Amino acid sequence: MDDPHEWTIRDANVADMAGQRVIDFKAHTLHVLSYSAPIRARMRLSELRAHLFTLPDQPDRIPYRTSYYNENWGFCLSHAALEALPEAEYDVVVDSTLAPGVLNYGELFLPGQTEDEILISTHICHPSLANDNLSGIAVASALAQRIAAMPARRFGVRIVFVPGTIGAIAWLARNESNVHRIKHGLVITGLGDAGPLVYKQTRRADAPIDRVAAHVLRHWPTPSRVIGFDPYGYDERQYNSPGFSLGVGRLTRTPHGTFKEYHTSGDHLDFVDPNQLTDALNAIEAMLDVVQTDTFYLSQNPKGEPRLGKRGLYRTVAGQADRQRQEMALLWALAYADGQDSLLDIAERASVPFREIAEAAQALEVVGLLVDTRAKV
Ligand code: ZN
Repeated sequence: MDDPHEWTIRDANVADMAGQRVIDFKAHTLHVLSYSAPIRARMRLSELRAHLFTLPDQPDRIPYRTSYYNENWGFCLSHAALEALPEAEYDVVVDSTLAPGVLNYGELFLPGQTEDEILISTHICHPSLANDNLSGIAVASALAQRIAAMPARRFGVRIVFVPGTIGAIAWLARNESNVHRIKHGLVITGLGDAGPLVYKQTRRADAPIDRVAAHVLRHWPTPSRVIGFDPYGYDERQYNSPGFSLGVGRLTRTPHGTFKEYHTSGDHLDFVDPNQLTDALNAIEAMLDVVQTDTFYLSQNPKGEPRLGKRGLYRTVAGQADRQRQEMALLWALAYADGQDSLLDIAERASVPFREIAEAAQALEVVGLLVDTRAKV
């Protein structure tokens, strides 16, 4: 087979003999089978039916269907609309082009202090669908803005916006000589529905991001779960393929195919909750925070416990409980400050969120009790 052609769609409709458009791409982009070959013909409904796609069990929704790499044409419509069509003749028009072209993708790189990188990838190929995939584009864009506004980073962050499958494969093929720099990554999409956050592990479930994501979600204030890798899904399949094995996990909410709005016109803006998007964005940011700041500390006062009060380490915090938490975090950070346990190791031992231990360690570093063993760059 030749390289896949680029598809350009200008118009697509089915009109009755009075010229009334009964199916109209201009009314909803889902009405045309994606990748439809061009056609202009007059035919009876009985003949047209083989090219019409509906969802009988969700009769008011338009399905999203594609016909990649298999030359066909067709229309998608609600089952109710199909039922209302009289047996008659119709004029069918798909005004499209399938021809050699280009594959477009977006890529943003926010440099870090080292050559190592974090990859964030989201797919951009679904028309007029909000959760899968506009939510991923929105969260990735907001994440980019947040990261760009932050001070120096250890890892560079590379955010790619690619057509699903073909785009990720093309991106990997073009960047093969540099992908060894990617130490951690996440494929993100489907982050706006009402379901809990779902982290899908990497192929071997042994990448650092697997541990980081599980840690963050274990302490996350909203519901979440972790699932194992399986070879079906989004572009984690490409990044985890044996020839790359990049250690890229995936964060979604309700997995694809398991909510009834999936790949239908029911996946519209009202299906996506801005609070869920924000919660997902915060969770991703917390995961990247662990990756960016985890390090090993060495105590400068390791023989017995140093006095913390006289060093001003008990800052005024709201309540007794918060003060106790803060004090415990300081003690945990000191107790394991022999360069053997990372902050994440300590947070897991203490069963507290990474950030609490990280802040305690940073406060201890400020007063000279701890030294970061990571080489300053
Ligand atoms: Zn999809």
